[in-house]
Amino acid sequence: MRIANLHGRAVLVSDERALDIGMASGGALPADPAELFTRWSDLIAWAAGQDVASDPAAVAYSPADLGAPSPRPSQVFGIGLNYADHAAEAGLAVPTSPLIFTKFPSAVSGPDIDVTLPGDTVDWEAELVVVIGVGGRHIGEESAVAHVAGYTVGQDLSERTVQWEGGSPQFSAGKSFEGFAPIGPVLVTPDELTDPESLSISTTIWGADGTSTVAQNGRTDQLIFGIAALISRLSAIVELRPGDLIFTGTPPGVGAAMNPKRFLRDGERLVTEIEGIGQIEQRFH
Ligand code: ZN
Repeated sequence: MRIANLHGRAVLVSDERALDIGMASGGALPADPAELFTRWSDLIAWAAGQDVASDPAAVAYSPADLGAPSPRPSQVFGIGLNYADHAAEAGLAVPTSPLIFTKFPSAVSGPDIDVTLPGDTVDWEAELVVVIGVGGRHIGEESAVAHVAGYTVGQDLSERTVQWEGGSPQFSAGKSFEGFAPIGPVLVTPDELTDPESLSISTTIWGADGTSTVAQNGRTDQLIFGIAALISRLSAIVELRPGDLIFTGTPPGVGAAMNPKRFLRDGERLVTEIEGIGQIEQRFH
């Protein structure tokens, strides 16, 4: 099942068509995409009986009409250095436990947006994002997947100067500017992916002149701490809540690790894609 946020309303999506969940359920399920996470098991049961492709109430849409599939998460977690090949690129030791930071929730945006560059060292990080369906504390790895609503594509945009200024790392500051946590285009439920830890993940930069560069081209099988381990670790510390986001880390190919370093410029476009989920796009000014 693929779920999206179309003009602020929750929709089921199939073949570029969208069915309004609030209307199609006759008001039995919430129209608000954020509220929907509190009724997740009811949604799954109802959606199993829907056929979006043949439903005359389904409408065509364009990616620019989509908002964040989880638009108001109470918490947004980021995990640093979580790809073995990215840790090697950064010249840093593989972490012995997950490196946890937050992106403040006001940074969350839809998948197809314009972003104002707050500085001249804004970098990209393509990430598989886990969306929590059923919250809880002290979730064991063996039951973690039952707490996942689904997966989406995210960009952990990072202003590197702000991230490192002041003498000690400030990941939460450098990664929380407006539009710095775009997610989408859809939330894909776990049953649709054979293995979320074996997907291709890429970032392509498009220049104003139409040239493109594939900056990142990795696979989620390089995750050091897998999805279940992250849910278990985070929930040992905080209460996970419906709609919360976990940015699971990025593969190699970030601009800060290039020689010379290379950051986003006015007029460039960033396209981030994960196999089986889709792609998101940001334009920088
Ligand atoms: Zn990241």
